[in-house]
Amino acid sequence: MTANLKLTPMLQQYLEIKEQHNDTILFYRMGDFYEMFFDDAEIASKILSITLTSRNNKSDAPKVPMCGIPFHAAQGYLAKLVKAGRRVAICEQVENPAEAKGIVKREVVRIISPGVITEDGLLDDKNSNYVCAICRKEHGGQVLFGISFLEASTGEFLVGEFFDGEGSGESVLDQLTRLTPSEILISDGDLDPCRDLLEGARLLLPELCITIQPASIFQFSTLREQLLTHFGVSTLDGYGCSSFTQGIIAAGVLFSYLLESQKTSLTHITRLTPLNLETVLQIDDSSRRNLELTQTIIGGKREGSLLSVLDETCTPMGARMLKNNLLFPLQDPARINRRLAAVSFFYQNSGHRRNLRELLNTVYDLERLTSRMILGSGNGRDMLAMKQSLGQLPKLLQILSTIEVEKIKTIAGELDPLDDLHSLIESSINPEAPVTLRDGNLIREGYHQELDELIAIQRDGKQTIARLEISERESSGIAKLKVGFNKVFGYYFEVSKLQADKIPDHYIRKQTLVNAERFITPELKEFENKILGAEDRRLELEYQLFIEVRNHLVAQSHRLLHTATLLAQLDVLCALAEVAQRYNYCRPTITEDNVITISEGRHPVIERSLPAGRFVPNDVHLDQESQQLLIITGPNMAGKSTVLRQTALIVLLAQMGSFVPAAKASIGIVDRIFTRVGAMDDLRRGQSTFMVEMSETANILNNATPRSLVILDEIGRGTSTYDGLSIAWAVAEDLVQKNELGVKTMFATHYHELTDLARTHDRVRNFSIAVREWNDSIIFLHKLIEGGANRSYGIQVAALAGVPNHVVERAEEILNNIERGEFDHTGQPAIAKSTGQKKKRIRTHPDQLSLFQPPSDPVRDYLRILDADQLSPREALEILYKLKDMM
Ligand code: ADP
Repeated sequence: MTANLKLTPMLQQYLEIKEQHNDTILFYRMGDFYEMFFDDAEIASKILSITLTSRNNKSDAPKVPMCGIPFHAAQGYLAKLVKAGRRVAICEQVENPAEAKGIVKREVVRIISPGVITEDGLLDDKNSNYVCAICRKEHGGQVLFGISFLEASTGEFLVGEFFDGEGSGESVLDQLTRLTPSEILISDGDLDPCRDLLEGARLLLPELCITIQPASIFQFSTLREQLLTHFGVSTLDGYGCSSFTQGIIAAGVLFSYLLESQKTSLTHITRLTPLNLETVLQIDDSSRRNLELTQTIIGGKREGSLLSVLDETCTPMGARMLKNNLLFPLQDPARINRRLAAVSFFYQNSGHRRNLRELLNTVYDLERLTSRMILGSGNGRDMLAMKQSLGQLPKLLQILSTIEVEKIKTIAGELDPLDDLHSLIESSINPEAPVTLRDGNLIREGYHQELDELIAIQRDGKQTIARLEISERESSGIAKLKVGFNKVFGYYFEVSKLQADKIPDHYIRKQTLVNAERFITPELKEFENKILGAEDRRLELEYQLFIEVRNHLVAQSHRLLHTATLLAQLDVLCALAEVAQRYNYCRPTITEDNVITISEGRHPVIERSLPAGRFVPNDVHLDQESQQLLIITGPNMAGKSTVLRQTALIVLLAQMGSFVPAAKASIGIVDRIFTRVGAMDDLRRGQSTFMVEMSETANILNNATPRSLVILDEIGRGTSTYDGLSIAWAVAEDLVQKNELGVKTMFATHYHELTDLARTHDRVRNFSIAVREWNDSIIFLHKLIEGGANRSYGIQVAALAGVPNHVVERAEEILNNIERGEFDHTGQPAIAKSTGQKKKRIRTHPDQLSLFQPPSDPVRDYLRILDADQLSPREALEILYKLKDMM
């Protein structure tokens, strides 16, 4: 659309810059505005709801669409564009317009995209904002995926590599949903083979922005070299990722992308951390969602998630670390115990905890503040926030130095008091510093001699003017002479026309007004130069000094970032102790014996939603000998899912180093938690409920180990009763026999037939959730008791749920019919185990049958009362006709 336009030099410059950033919306700085032109203007005006105007470029040429936003309000607009998945290139004037010859020089100084945001106002304090890169390679019949995540505002940099048998990218998808990046980089060459993966990712992360990169940049050796140079190392062994190839490519692509968009050296990225899944308790994506770890299934809200109960952190970096710990619980008992010992200390010593938390409450987001300095966006206010935070360190250290607990001692030992940086900011930055860098008032008086002199000149300027006014009045005899200032003429003497005759000869006339005239003198001009020169010089000098201070902080950023991490750890430990005490949690014992014993366990989230003391605690024991697979029956709403989930959550909490909602708990380290629960989220994947249920079941059967914990809630429900029961049976059997050792499993089911499993398998035990019958109704006791439930109470639950009376009554009638054996109810033994039996017979429990007799069937009724022996052939024929009519 720009081809035939005759363009002004400004638009030519615009187009040259735009050409290099054609996949972004270009914010082109003109004075106090960022302007957008052509297609950018059309797109942005819609997203931002601002008026689209046009620039009359040359009178005979078509108009150029444009829209603009004031630069001081750019933040809000930027946020909207980025939220809409757009990348924005910020193009600034990089020379002083007053000094420019011809068109002012402009350059893109930063590119902001959904995954690369460092602006304070655009980021969510409590969540990390990752950009991610993936790449794939076929390798010996399998597909090897490389994946890397980068948090631009904190410098966190993760890398991993996964083999994926079918190449569907399930393992990659799992990582994506765990860390929920806002942007993903992918090579144009991988787009096609990764189509399903990307579609899945889009469904699960609807706001994900996909940024396509040319395949040509995915070069192992170049990218590896770049990383080696950045980290100043000759090998990546030290980061535990020397064996990676695809992982390094992904990390390298991310690194260059960030370099390109920030246009600064990325000194806050100090290391690569391998996404090493062997050392963490793995929880796959659906389990994470089912267990509502960081957000609820319905509505995806933080409120109502486990995280919301646990998050008593005081600092944003603490909140982010807590979330991370929750998503990556540990497997190493020693590390878990170190955390637990520290939580335990703070649990018992509430005075220390309170004091530390009070101090932490006044610490700002040191991690992101440091990154802002590094990325060149840190301003005076950021410095003050940093100073305030650093000011707490000596007090924190003082408290920590009295504590004799290993983990806390390590933190105290490594915590750098950063006195030097605190004093630097204290001595240099004006406590009233504004957010802008070019308007002065950034630097404190007394910090720099020349600046002090300039400030004095400006301050004295007012007095000098007053003096000059008096002396000029005296020497000229013009009593009403005034000194004034305007932007065009600078300083001048103003004399009313009535006194024009007294004007001295050396006055030079500059302007004539209706009643007055304005003059200058060489002396006045000299004074003016001094003052205005001082002002310009002061602004420039303040800016320079500020940048010097900032660069000094940047040079020390590794110390700042390490301290930020230690504060985050401390914050998390105190927060977990706070939660433990507030909600009465206990310290779990961590063992390696593959046994889980929980006494009086509670569901951490549900108990919070009930009045105090209303949650009924339950005991759960799982081991490898006699109680490995628990079949749990009981009516709907009894609390089966709750007891299942709470067991998984207690294990997870223990392995992240938290106290647990129980009276006592002993947790044998678990390697993976699998859940197959509910069907709430299935539609999001666009698959049928049953298909999702079965693929999740397949995942469990293929990957569970004897150290895993499997939670199955109502499997087989998505198909017909017989199919479902048969599948549930076979799955339970497989789990208990898996690798001869079996897998710890809790299996809630409606199929009472499954209780028969306990007869043939030593490690299977039956449990149920107690209910009490009361008149025609039932009361839920929510208590897990040994033994299978004898009834389903489905009809009572239906009545409790408000199903109309006549339907409830009819259901009872049908149930009675069934129980009297009027339906196909064979009463044969349960599902035959042997494979030889072709025709498997199923004994269905009376209340399981879903074959409902229609309310009334006249043909059947008629036939039932008919006595065939009494009929003549003719009557029989007539009846046949009649029956046909009745159909
Ligand atoms: P089920 O899986 O058996 O259908 P749920 O576990 O979903 O039942 O529990 C239904 C409701 O019962 C929960 O939302 C909760 O309000 C309540 N509930 C469950 N377990 C308990 C308990 N142990 N103590 C108190 N209330 C409970």
